Amino acid sequence: MPTIKIPEHLLPVDGRFGCGPSKIREAQLDALVKNAHLLGTSHRQAPIKELVKQIQSGLLELFHNPPGYEIILGNGGSTAFWDAAAYSLAKGKSQALVHGEFGAKFANALKAPFLESPTVITSEVGSRGELLAEAGVKQYVYPQNETSTGVITPVARVVADSDALFLTDATSSAGGVDFDPQETDVYYFAPQKNFGSDGGLWLALVSPKAIARIEEIAATDRYIPEFLSLKVALDNSRQNQTLNTPALATLVLLNEQIKWINSNGGLAWADAKTKAASAFVYAWAERASFASCFVTDPAHRSQVVCTIDFAETVHAMEVSKVLRENGILDVDPYRKLGRNQLRIATFTAIDITDVERLTAAIDFVVERI
Ligand SMILES: *Cc1c(COP(=O)(O)O)cnc(C)c1O
Repeated sequence: MPTIKIPEHLLPVDGRFGCGPSKIREAQLDALVKNAHLLGTSHRQAPIKELVKQIQSGLLELFHNPPGYEIILGNGGSTAFWDAAAYSLAKGKSQALVHGEFGAKFANALKAPFLESPTVITSEVGSRGELLAEAGVKQYVYPQNETSTGVITPVARVVADSDALFLTDATSSAGGVDFDPQETDVYYFAPQKNFGSDGGLWLALVSPKAIARIEEIAATDRYIPEFLSLKVALDNSRQNQTLNTPALATLVLLNEQIKWINSNGGLAWADAKTKAASAFVYAWAERASFASCFVTDPAHRSQVVCTIDFAETVHAMEVSKVLRENGILDVDPYRKLGRNQLRIATFTAIDITDVERLTAAIDFVVERI
């Protein structure tokens, strides 16, 4: 028995509010059953290659079909992509925005011995800095949504050397936030966030300029492990394949979510949905006597990951524990941030009615704890 029992009418229909793995819709699971005949079959044969092709063309449609851009993919999730990008895309000097865990991890990957020491623009967690035009920088990198703090950065180029690339970590924003693909060269992500699939895969929308860089680096004498070679990934992706075996269920779940978003109005629809849900959370936090928005500048507040600070008198972890006992899951803060706060995903699949119930459930628990 939970110590505090939240009444039925305050319980979300789906209690999953985590930032990844995240809510998987029932229709995705139905698609998994409907496509059960694909599971356990070779990824080198037509049926799975057709599935990968649908994912690639569905993503291009979702991302506004930028001319010449391609979707490449490989195993290992976004974390593997950081190292792949360091080995296969980066040259010379990088500039990185760092205001949380994920941005910091990519900045570290760019400290590889064959690269120049990067310019790191570090900002306080809960806020962010801006990319700055810098002569000699060959790649500008930043997280579109810093998932550890709930801070959003617009996808926009700055004045740069003509051969500079822009790399956007869109792991937790892709599929939930609209953007202009022409404003970046590499828009990479993993399927376990807005796409409601499973982890372990990375995907990237790459511009013609980024493809040219992949070819350029591959032609140098730099040692590149095969697993981290984006040239190998590019060649395989053009055959609707991956270097090594992908998880097939992940592909089915992902494809279903892409089709769902596209058929509902695409990225503009998803963007409006996540904006409305997050706006509800932020307005609630501003009203609540015990809560406040961690991200103080409204322009920096993420529409897909809401971080809510609690007053000292209320222990967020205790609230989270009671919520968990009642089936409301994974609203704990990012483990390394160490704040007295809750972190709530408002990904595309998460319905605003469930967000309304969640906030009412938190109010209920805080009054009784
Ligand atoms: C989740 C996340 C990652 C890590 O993704 P993995 O697929 O687990 O490697 C990287 N960047 C951001 C912004 C994330 O939210």
